Amino acid sequence: MRLVFATNNRHKLQEVSAMLGDRFELLSLSDIGCNVDIPETSDTLSGNALQKARYVKEHFGMDCFADDTGLEVKSLSGAPGVHSARYAGDHDSEANITKLLGELKDKKDRTARFRTVIALLNGEREYLFEGIVNGRITDKREGSDGFGYDPVFVPDGYDCSFAELGNDVKNTISHRARAIAKLVEFLNSDCQDDKP
Ligand code: IMP
Repeated sequence: MRLVFATNNRHKLQEVSAMLGDRFELLSLSDIGCNVDIPETSDTLSGNALQKARYVKEHFGMDCFADDTGLEVKSLSGAPGVHSARYAGDHDSEANITKLLGELKDKKDRTARFRTVIALLNGEREYLFEGIVNGRITDKREGSDGFGYDPVFVPDGYDCSFAELGNDVKNTISHRARAIAKLVEFLNSDCQDDKP
């Protein structure tokens, strides 16, 4: 079964294709000749994920899934949330972290979570899958692995940041891994259900 993942991020493609196995041929946006920056104008993660998946379905007529992720900090009313990539500067992780630590300077409650939503368009149907990892924001950067807010996020049950834990551990407990696991479980069961 051919399925488009609405991304060109090689790390995400590898992660998903390893979990999906041989029964699915995973195609990226560049694989299908989609070279535009698909709009993400919704104010929710699910809205953005659906927007991307629907764009591919509408313009390329293929089954597709898309993801969107946000860091949600409790004492900031869920910010940066859907604006995580552009909180301070466009995909500028350093500036984003500096702004986040500044906003949290006088806050006692540093509870936060990463949330990923995956939207799947399968035939005429739309499905949503959510993955969450709970944790807290540190006072300062710790560790150098990973990307985005990894140096300042400590997942529950651990004493070090995502950037210190490294990808092997992170990829087993992360928001994205949890959402992907739900998608994969659905795709496998769905395909089995369709068998005669
Ligand atoms: P995207 O929807 O996967 O592009 O994620 C949006 C933004 O959330 C990214 O630009 C990062 O700033 C942040 N983000 C997403 N996933 C992670 C993660 O696993 N670690 C740290 N930051 C992340």
